[in-house]
Amino acid sequence: MSDQALRDEIVNAARALDASGLNRGSSGNISARLGDALLVTPSGVPASRLEPQMLARMPLDRDDGVYEGPMKPSSEWRFHLDLMRARPEFHALVHTHAPFSTILSIARKPIPAVHYMMAAFGGPEIRCSGYATYGTAALSAEVVAAMEGRAGCLMANHGMIVGGPNLTRATWLAHELEALAHQYYHVLHIGGGHILTEAELADTARGFASYGVQAAKT
Ligand code: 13P
Ligand code: ZN
Repeated sequence: MSDQALRDEIVNAARALDASGLNRGSSGNISARLGDALLVTPSGVPASRLEPQMLARMPLDRDDGVYEGPMKPSSEWRFHLDLMRARPEFHALVHTHAPFSTILSIARKPIPAVHYMMAAFGGPEIRCSGYATYGTAALSAEVVAAMEGRAGCLMANHGMIVGGPNLTRATWLAHELEALAHQYYHVLHIGGGHILTEAELADTARGFASYGVQAAKT
């Protein structure tokens, strides 16, 4: 994909997340891999004012925050870079302060397998990272650890992040994670529910291999 096409895709994804209520104002950020670099949304710009040329381009092999572009990259560039380096299968990352994911992150409650869609995340629970100040290397380390073997995690007292092989899949996962958080939140209110076993989730994962969601995986 060309630099311009990827920029357009990121801006459209940011606007769609805002319109769907998963993000609001300038909260959250998006990145996508472009060769040996990363395109990432600028810091402090609401989706409604975001334009493709505002995105920052950052080399994946540098740790000093160097970037090309007219605006500063997202304050969370460290976890975007660190996750792309740690997880070569990720080509797109979506970070949001979606309401129910954030509520559970404040309660520091990981999400167990309340629904079979958990299988899309690569394991029996979505972890909640430890807390660290936004925009820090400490937060990046917490997030990389909580994401190990998973396509998403909650971030303590902050929100959530998901990663996928493309922006379509990452955006889809952001909606799915928020749906799981919403379901679990309500299940806690009615005194709890049944949690699926690892064998049940493994069966689901096998089914997904030939289901429609496959279309967004590549
Ligand atoms: P940026 O506007 O710098 O991307 O920050 C938003 C955010 O969600 C910080 O965690
Ligand atoms: Zn944030």
